[in-house]
Amino acid sequence: MDYYSSQITKLIEELGKLPGIGTKSAQRLAFHIINMPQEQVNSLAGAIKDAKANIRYCKECWTLTDQEYCPICSRKLRDHQTIMVVENTRDLAAYEKTGKYEGVYHVLHGAISPLQGICPNDNRVKELMQRLQGDVKEVIIATNSSLEGETTAMYISKLIKPTGIRVSRIASGVPVGGDLEYIDEVTLLRALEGRITL
Ligand code: ZN
Repeated sequence: MDYYSSQITKLIEELGKLPGIGTKSAQRLAFHIINMPQEQVNSLAGAIKDAKANIRYCKECWTLTDQEYCPICSRKLRDHQTIMVVENTRDLAAYEKTGKYEGVYHVLHGAISPLQGICPNDNRVKELMQRLQGDVKEVIIATNSSLEGETTAMYISKLIKPTGIRVSRIASGVPVGGDLEYIDEVTLLRALEGRITL
């Protein structure tokens, strides 16, 4: 790619490292950025740096946030006795978009995958169990319907059952192998409303 100046090549290479960005997209983005007004470029670069520097995990639900507690956990009006367990922050956002879920969340940051050697210690399962020592009525397991998601759901439900807290699993309106973040809001709501006690 030495027909571009080294700085353009560097920009294309860096953009090309992002997920889902192939060489062609990286080139298109690079030239788009170069043609952007300086102010907009500064704002983009600043947003990337600030996000990386200030984003941390919520002390309660482990979602990504820039405060000690995320906006959802901070809201007194939310139902703090109902915890929905999701695999990642994007899945949390998918359920938040429905605007109908009033409980709080617990973000695992991944699923248990014996095949890939990802064990429960690699996720935030221990932190979930610690939360359950408080005042909790129900845990809704909303991991994806992939093999890993189902394995995680089974593992967590087995851990929680002896505590007497209600454990439920979102209904199978979510297609098998489907990532929550790509599913429309109506389907997500139906899956939530049709949840089954495990
Ligand atoms: Zn939180």
